[in-house]
Amino acid sequence: MQGDAQPGPYRGIHARHGEVMARDILQLDRVCKYYQMGDSRVDALREVSLTVHENDYMAVFGPSGSGKSTLLHMMGLLDVPSCGRVLVDGKDVSRLQENELARIRGKKIGFIFQVFNLVPSLTALENVSLPMMIYGVPKYEREKRAEDLLSSLDMGNRVGHLPGELSGGQRQRVAIARSLANNPEVILADEPTGNLDSKTGEEVVEIFNQLHREGKTLIVVTHDPDIARNTDEIVRIRDGQVVEHEVSKEHAVRLGEKTELAGGVKLKVNGELGIRMKKKVK
Ligand code: ADP
Ligand code: MG
Repeated sequence: MQGDAQPGPYRGIHARHGEVMARDILQLDRVCKYYQMGDSRVDALREVSLTVHENDYMAVFGPSGSGKSTLLHMMGLLDVPSCGRVLVDGKDVSRLQENELARIRGKKIGFIFQVFNLVPSLTALENVSLPMMIYGVPKYEREKRAEDLLSSLDMGNRVGHLPGELSGGQRQRVAIARSLANNPEVILADEPTGNLDSKTGEEVVEIFNQLHREGKTLIVVTHDPDIARNTDEIVRIRDGQVVEHEVSKEHAVRLGEKTELAGGVKLKVNGELGIRMKKKVK
């Protein structure tokens, strides 16, 4: 079975010649982001290096204004870095034009935001269909897929509703369905349970866990301990820098020699299974 993907907990990891390897999907290489505000400069990100592998499940923590959303925007190719490189599947995309970025983004990455960002004048079905339009998916197929996605999220009986006619939890389900429209490998979520009550939030967490089991790669900016408990990795950022990167022991074992913390710090894999391993980066 050399070179074949293994089932079960090793899904997404390829074993070759006895070593365990996980494919790199996204890499930030000393990425900075500055915003010039008149005479002063805001350093939203300062030389962040971070690798995301296939099927990683990562939580990003940090106080308000620490650069979490900026980090997600860099990973999601929604904005270009001021310095450093962003690599997708090993290829540097930091100097591509917006239309090229949009194509990669649309296929590869799905976004979920705290404020849902649905188009208020479109129905749930139309909102979910929208991302498929730039790829020229025929209307019938778009609507079929949108309906299937909404049904899979228990929203099958709300396809014709406008966002204003839905509860917060239902809107977030529509947003999740929309993020899945083009079957992306990576889901980036920015405080997805921030506007939801705790029970609805738990349902969204369960959807994320399920997506992870299905093989998706998830990076979630959150303050929600329920999400963090389920993730393999926790990245803490402060003042635009990664200050701590925590990796579960199981995850470190799966990654094997690919285990590398933000900033290129190597994590030593030892100790008991089930113990989260932490390393101060800065
Ligand atoms: P977080 O998501 O952790 O709250 P952000 O990434 O949104 O933080 O912001 C990081 C810093 O960058 C903040 O100081 C914020 O004010 C600033 N910032 C973010 N976006 C912009 C922008 N478009 N223009 C100017 N400053 C920005
Ligand atoms: Mg934010």
